[in-house]
Amino acid sequence: MSGAKQQRELDLSEFPRGSVTEFTTLVCLACIFDIFTKQLGLAARTAFSEIKRHTPTVEELTSRQTMRPYFDSDEKSPHCPYCGSAKRWLARFDTYCIEGGRTTDAARRNFLKKLPTAADQFLVIEKKSDSRAVLFEWLDSMGVNLDLNDPSWLLEVTRMYLERRDPKTNWDEVFEGATAVRRSSRITEGWERDGTRLFLAPRFYGEAILIQYLVSRSHAHGGLTLEGRITLIELIRRLRYFGYLEHVGITERDPGEVIEKLIDHLAAKREWYRVDVDKKPAKKKAGKKPAQKAAKKSAKKKPSSARPEPDEISAEAVKLHYLIDRRDFLEKVQSVYASYAA
Ligand SMILES: [Zn+2]
Repeated sequence: MSGAKQQRELDLSEFPRGSVTEFTTLVCLACIFDIFTKQLGLAARTAFSEIKRHTPTVEELTSRQTMRPYFDSDEKSPHCPYCGSAKRWLARFDTYCIEGGRTTDAARRNFLKKLPTAADQFLVIEKKSDSRAVLFEWLDSMGVNLDLNDPSWLLEVTRMYLERRDPKTNWDEVFEGATAVRRSSRITEGWERDGTRLFLAPRFYGEAILIQYLVSRSHAHGGLTLEGRITLIELIRRLRYFGYLEHVGITERDPGEVIEKLIDHLAAKREWYRVDVDKKPAKKKAGKKPAQKAAKKSAKKKPSSARPEPDEISAEAVKLHYLIDRRDFLEKVQSVYASYAA
């Protein structure tokens, strides 16, 4: 039994950092048992065998609004918020959302191959999404997991952004002992350290404050950034001044349009690292000419595949692979049932 416990942690080190999001949801077995027997009218024994087969939906596992019998808790000895049950009635589902794509597909296949298949200890559910939704999920999960009242979140979010942008660099090392992040006026690429200060090239720095703005803007008027609390207009003014807008080709003047374009741009760079890693633009997926040809040909069959304007950045389709770890749940159901039957 202790052997099984030791194996518990999954090794996700083969995945580029920032490509896997983890979710933990607790389920109260007392509540779920209650639902199956009282609401669904099943006999106790039947209820247990049904519960064993039960897997929550991806929404239930990843949403922040939980409903009975599910809940979230950071406490060491949590209690069910619905019925007050103690720890031994509570089981944990760990869910890993792996972004599909060229940089993760091989790692994912290898990883899944190594998982035990017996008794549905693990389940994989695939969902279609797009790069814009993925970006907002990512921003959202940072907003939830970071304490925006603690000023150190600005460094933390900057590190997480850089990890996602450039997973080849060991950013933990770069940030080791850093107490401030500044915009460099010396370098145009990458970063450099000066004592406890980390200097970022203006482009990185601009993107970092844009991310900070997007993470914090819903919590207060304007957004909190390394530049202080700034409004959208102030953010755009700075990004223009840093040369960032010009760099990404944004010429719009209307703030609403600018921020939409900025978000499109961040979303399109979902796999930022791909751009940096490949020196040659390896097989542009859907090169413009063949794509238009194909669209014409298949227009009858799939009218929805009409391509957007060539220069328009639009959300790319992304496949999300949700890996659900049911091991703790299966064990707890077993032990609860054993004590119940005794
Ligand atoms: Zn409960």
